[in-house]
Amino acid sequence: MVNLLGLPPNELQAFCAALGEKPFRAKQLLRWIHHAGVDDFGAMTDVSKALRERLVQSASIAAPCVRRDTTAADGTRKWLLHVGTNNAIETVFIPETARGTLCISSQAGCALECSFCSTGRQGFNRNLSVAEIIGQLWLANRALGRGVSEERPITNVVMMGMGEPLANFDNVVAAMELMLDDSAYGLSRRRVTLSTSGLVPAIDRLREACPVALAVSLHAPNDELRNELVPINRKYPIRELLAACVRYIEKAPRDFVTFEYVMLDGVNDAPAHAHELVRVLSDVPCKVNLIPFNPFPASGYARSRGEAVARFRDILMTSEITTTVRKTRGDDIDAACGQLAGEVQDRTRRQARREARAAHSGSEVKRLMEERIG
Ligand code: SAH
Ligand code: SF4
Repeated sequence: MVNLLGLPPNELQAFCAALGEKPFRAKQLLRWIHHAGVDDFGAMTDVSKALRERLVQSASIAAPCVRRDTTAADGTRKWLLHVGTNNAIETVFIPETARGTLCISSQAGCALECSFCSTGRQGFNRNLSVAEIIGQLWLANRALGRGVSEERPITNVVMMGMGEPLANFDNVVAAMELMLDDSAYGLSRRRVTLSTSGLVPAIDRLREACPVALAVSLHAPNDELRNELVPINRKYPIRELLAACVRYIEKAPRDFVTFEYVMLDGVNDAPAHAHELVRVLSDVPCKVNLIPFNPFPASGYARSRGEAVARFRDILMTSEITTTVRKTRGDDIDAACGQLAGEVQDRTRRQARREARAAHSGSEVKRLMEERIG
């Protein structure tokens, strides 16, 4: 069974060709699956009965299962999706007056271990498939009501959920091709943003393969501090990262890069850090988005105080760097990076330990387990 949800336009065409169908069939299927949100071949009324029957035999349209669906007081909605044993990912919809943004995950867990990120603390589980990535947009569109095309609730997509999208390059690019395709979601390149912790060679590849708006998680104005917060910096230091950003802008749909900067109390939020940041960014067309830290248990960090954030922003603005402060949304449903999935992950790990303890009554195993649990 081929899951058609995960086939980007060119592969869907190849699939149709293999069935002896003309290329326009692929467009029809794209429209039914992604535009109309249909998962039943029987509903595809302009597709011949014979083809519909062949599709039922050989293909499926399958998105991840929704495990939990929560809406916050401010309208932020969060889905927890099941992606295999002990694996859960999350998707968040953030409604605003003039737009609606969907935040999509690209991996179950993340290998990059940024010190302030709860997804990073969970470790890496696996890359999501194309169907699991685009399936988040498909599910959210269906859940939010599609409306007529001009009034779609989701106007923007950000690859800022769990995982490092550039570490799952091929699947993320294939999913973004569907986001951009007029027969599927028809989003403009400016309305699809990929956020990366800074995998320099992959930024260059993205520029050629599928340039979309780029956000880079900078979080520190110098290598010493960034090595600590974003360990991949040891491999791709700030100078190389910023050079890649400048190269990217030459081909990108937007003429600037957005730098994300998580505000950690007493760590990276002093005026001196802001001044250093201004110097470091002087040659890069950019905007800066300050993100108040979202605390999670035993993170070891605290959110910067409001005055520290305002002072930091003012220093950047005075130097003519457009700076925004991200509003904290959906606090009452933990709609922050990796939090809800983190909760489930922890629970399943505890469960696994309990099961292991029950299975092995040997004292050595017991001692080890007790040591790990503390
Ligand atoms: N892996 C990619 C995209 C996912 S993380 C990246 O790192 O860019 C999306 C954004 O949330 C990143 O800027 C990340 O640094 C930030 N983030 C992670 N944990 C956070 C936390 N606890 N509080 C605030 N922002 C966080
Ligand atoms: Fe991974 Fe991004 Fe979290 Fe870093 S901040 S651990 S790259 S998800």
